[in-house]
Amino acid sequence: MSGIKIEEKLFQNRYLVDADNPHIRIKDPALCGQCSNQPCTICCPAGCYTREEQKVVLITDGCLECGTCRIICSRQNVEWEYPRGGYGIQFKFG
Ligand code: SF4
Repeated sequence: MSGIKIEEKLFQNRYLVDADNPHIRIKDPALCGQCSNQPCTICCPAGCYTREEQKVVLITDGCLECGTCRIICSRQNVEWEYPRGGYGIQFKFG
């Protein structure tokens, strides 16, 4: 078994940013400030969500399109769709 880390595997993927059309949006940022545990900041495998004081900052670059954030948000505060054709993650296998 190789000792390669998940971060090194993820680094091999390529991501084409659709700068003006993020495919995930926080519907009401004020709601995040009322959320006690902000699970999106813990569960996103790509680290797209970060906590800054009481706010949640979302940067969709590098998103793996797994859908976890849409499911884990107990307030249904995440608007989620796949990126437009040609944009988003391009997985490299092997
Ligand atoms: Fe992170 Fe997955 Fe949500 Fe993308 S879809 S932001 S990888 S949790």
